[in-house]
Amino acid sequence: MQAHNGMYIDGEWRPAAGTETIEVVDPATEEIIGTVPAGTAEDVDAAVAAARAALPGWAAAPPAERAARLGALREALAARREEIAATVTAELGAPLSFSQAVHADLPITVAGTYAGLAAEHPFEERLGNSRVLHEPVGVVGAITPWNYPLHQVVAKVAPALAAGCTVVLKPAEDTPLVARIFAEAVAEAGVPAGVFNLVTGRGPVAGQALAEHDGVDMVSFTGSTAVGRRIGAIAGGAVKRVALELGGKSANVILPGADLVKAVKIGVGNVMANAGQTCSAWTRMLVHADRYDEAVEIAAAAAAKYTPGDPTDPATRLGPVVNAGQRERVTGYIRTGVEEGATLVAGGADAPEGMERGYYVRPTVFAGVTPGMTIAREEIFGPVLSVLRYEDADDAARIANDSAYGLSGAVWAADDEEAVAFARRLQTGQVDVNGGRFNPLAPFGGYKQSGVGRELGPHGLTEYLQTKSLQF
Ligand code: NAD
Repeated sequence: MQAHNGMYIDGEWRPAAGTETIEVVDPATEEIIGTVPAGTAEDVDAAVAAARAALPGWAAAPPAERAARLGALREALAARREEIAATVTAELGAPLSFSQAVHADLPITVAGTYAGLAAEHPFEERLGNSRVLHEPVGVVGAITPWNYPLHQVVAKVAPALAAGCTVVLKPAEDTPLVARIFAEAVAEAGVPAGVFNLVTGRGPVAGQALAEHDGVDMVSFTGSTAVGRRIGAIAGGAVKRVALELGGKSANVILPGADLVKAVKIGVGNVMANAGQTCSAWTRMLVHADRYDEAVEIAAAAAAKYTPGDPTDPATRLGPVVNAGQRERVTGYIRTGVEEGATLVAGGADAPEGMERGYYVRPTVFAGVTPGMTIAREEIFGPVLSVLRYEDADDAARIANDSAYGLSGAVWAADDEEAVAFARRLQTGQVDVNGGRFNPLAPFGGYKQSGVGRELGPHGLTEYLQTKSLQF
């Protein structure tokens, strides 16, 4: 049990202004594993003041110096890889192997890419008789969710620091412990005091105070579309920069010439990873009518192999969902799917056998899903796949784009050329072509209600810059 009472402000751990705390619960055991302070507007004021005071010095630091600090941050995170993985497994419930390979290694990689980009980015350019300066936006308020708790922090803080901005972070209530490890790594990396500050707390209190703060020039938010709308309204009202990474309901389109077995198995794995709590998960699988039954059979068999288990066991591939509320939400959607006439071919709303403790949900696959059903429209954020049928390519494109969201997706075809031609028709920010590999430099972000702005790589860096042109 870790009982913390500090906030990381101005380069030191300071006692919180108030006495209220947030309990951190292990979703596999339902035991309280730690407490952190529930920050108030007073803590946010102190953190923003530190970030403002540090801004001129950090903004003026040579890019090579910012790059060196980010390189040191990458090393500090890498040195704590196992601690990060164990912490994410304890507070989120992600299987340990996934915590190591993704929750720890991905942010380590992203910090490394920004160490490189901080040094290489063209912060000045010539345009005719002008010199264009790309300057930091200023103090950034970063608000992050629990589902990729370190990655989402690094995907904001690393580019902000590379750009010369200073940051106040308010991490999610469920996963504050890994954010504290991040703050320790920032200190170890020799980042100057005040450049990065951490305030743990509740969204409507500390989060809102941060978004509304006059001393914050930009709000970078990842989370639900409902809260994103509020953040967007606050930022719009104050005319401050905003970046929003929100929900998704991405389509995995398997065209007739594709390797069906591979496409379906990888598609199922994509949805089961992190217990389905991935904003970019391909939760709608679209299969041609001629191969639909075959695909459903493969999907059901593949899902059944994701036996829910103890996330600390290295062999486990499916852990619990993050908390009791999330389990209620996910099983509620499974019940709705059945009520609306979809066919359960794997899993269901009942608790998995033999799992008396922990917020476990069975790996679930629905067949016979039509585009109007709730489970085909709303983000479930659990290990639940819907398989939909299409008649031809036009029908597939229409169904794929029939969503309020547009974050991610996949296309499988006989060859890349055919897949790319189809991908051009999709209203979405990222498409994996024939099982394409993750690229930490590629821009990530949404069309439509999936968000505003992009994260990762050079596109993610420019979000934290504003331009000034000098004419000669
Ligand atoms: P959430 O919106 O409830 O919370 C996200 C963060 O916002 C938390 O830190 C929370 O404390 C804070 N918050 C809540 N209310 C607030 C308010 N009124 N003012 C300011 N801050 C507030 O989302 P969640 O449940 O933590 O995360 C799940 C959601 O995040 C899903 O919808 C998922 O799709 C989305 N998500 C999107 C991406 C992406 O990159 N697009 C990535 C991960 C998660």
